[in-house]
Amino acid sequence: PGKKVLIVYAHQEPKSFNGSLLKIAVEELTKQGCSVTVSDLYAMQFEPRATRNDIVGHLHNSEAFNYGVETWEAYKRGGLSKDLVEEQKKVQEADLLIFQFPLFWFSMPAILKGWMDRVLVQGFAYDLSKAYDGGLLQDKLSLFSFTTGGSKEKYAIRGDIRYLLWPMQHGIMHFCGVKVLEPHICYAPENVSEDKRKEMLTAWTQRLKTLWKEQPIDCSPEWYFK
Ligand code: FAD
Ligand code: ZN
Repeated sequence: PGKKVLIVYAHQEPKSFNGSLLKIAVEELTKQGCSVTVSDLYAMQFEPRATRNDIVGHLHNSEAFNYGVETWEAYKRGGLSKDLVEEQKKVQEADLLIFQFPLFWFSMPAILKGWMDRVLVQGFAYDLSKAYDGGLLQDKLSLFSFTTGGSKEKYAIRGDIRYLLWPMQHGIMHFCGVKVLEPHICYAPENVSEDKRKEMLTAWTQRLKTLWKEQPIDCSPEWYFK
C-alpha cells in the first residue's frame, strides 16, 4: 500500500486483450492501496518522434542538430517540451513502471519506443558515468507485460524469447538503473480458446497480488543468453 505505479500502455483498443490486462492491473493495484497512473499513449496521441520540437527556446548548437546533446542541455535548463516534463514527473514519482503492449516485430510498438527515446533523457535517466547499476533511476522497478501473436511452442522452437528482452530490459531499464522484474508474457491471445484467455487474465491478477514480494531478476547476459 502507498506504492506508486506508472503503467505505460500502448494499444489502440480498450476492448483488446492488452486493454483487459491494463484494466486488471489498474483494478488490482488500486485495490491494494497503490496509486496508479496510466500513460495511455495512443489516447494521448503521444508524439513518438525525437525532433527539435522537444526543445523549448534556443538550441545549444543551432548549426548542427544533435538530439542527445540538445535534450540533455534542455533538461538542465528546464527547457524540455511540456509533454516530456509531464512524463518525467510520472517516472520520477513511480516506484514501479509497468509497460503493457503487444509485441511488434520482436520489440515494442513505435509509440512506446518513442516514449523511451524521448522521456529517458540524459541528465534525467542516466549520465556520463551514471549508467546500469549507477543509473539515475535507482530504487525503481520495471515490468514488461506483453502479448504475442506467436504461440509459446513456436517461441520455444525459434529461440528463447529472452533474447528480445535484452534491448528492452537491459539496454533501456537496467541502463537507467531501474531494476527488472520477471516479464509477464501472454502468448497468442488471438489464437487460444476463450477459456485459455480467461485463464491468462486470472494468472495476471494472481501475479499482481504477490508482486511486491518478488525479487528483481539478475539482469546480466546469463539471464538472457545462457
Ligand atoms: P486482441 O486481438 O485484442 O485480443 C485477442 C482476443 O482476446 C480478442 O478476441 C479479444 O476480443 C479477446 N479479449 C479481450 N479481452 C478479453 C477478456 N477480458 N476476456 C476474454 N477475451 C478477451 N507477434 C509476434 O509474436 N511477434 C512479432 O514480432 C509480431 N510483430 C507484429 C508486428 C505488427 C506491426 C503487428 C500489428 C502485430 C505483430 N505481432 C507479432 C502480433 C501481435 O503481437 C498480436 O496481434 C498482439 O500481441 C495480440 O494482442 P491484442 O491485445 O492486440 O489482442
Ligand atoms: Zn541488465
